[in-house]
Amino acid sequence: MDQIKIGKFISSRRKEQGLTQRQLAEKLAVSDKTISKWECGNGLPEVSLMLPLCEVLSISVNELLCGERIVNDDYKQKAEDKMMELIKERNENKKKLILSAVMAFITVLSSCILVMVSGLSTEFTTLTRIGLIVSAVVIIICGIACAVALEFDAGKYECRKCGHKFVPTVTEYVNGAHTITRRHLKCPNCGKKSWCIRRLG
Ligand SMILES: [Zn+2]
Repeated sequence: MDQIKIGKFISSRRKEQGLTQRQLAEKLAVSDKTISKWECGNGLPEVSLMLPLCEVLSISVNELLCGERIVNDDYKQKAEDKMMELIKERNENKKKLILSAVMAFITVLSSCILVMVSGLSTEFTTLTRIGLIVSAVVIIICGIACAVALEFDAGKYECRKCGHKFVPTVTEYVNGAHTITRRHLKCPNCGKKSWCIRRLG
């Protein structure tokens, strides 16, 4: 989705309604920083805020997501295009998650093999062994970095205590215990630790 376009659209609709960022923020019970963030194209409104925002701006959700006014004639087409785009984005995120799991697996496997080989074989010199272990460490670091980058891109985690959605820091991410869909993280909103659920997109 074109966040810049959507941001500009929100800004122009807000001005047309004669509202300042602060006034719009008050109507939606968010901070004016949040409004400014949307308008600069740094993020989209949460799903729960989309309807109230559209109501204030007198636009449809579909228009909001397209970042422009839509005349009746091509409304249906645009709605369908938008739907397809959302589905595509979701699928891409899923692919990224799978890819990152595969990468993590290969990383662990190949580094284990390297360490085992260096430990088992008696024919290697100490230098060769050190070389193998160093390669294993490098592979682990690169693999984790790639997996984290891919997953980071693919979604946020939702706090079980307060429902706040957030992207964990890299340190937290690497340290946090996890299952395939959950990760034990500290919520930046309420400060409590819980098994946060991954939310795509
Ligand atoms: Zn929380």
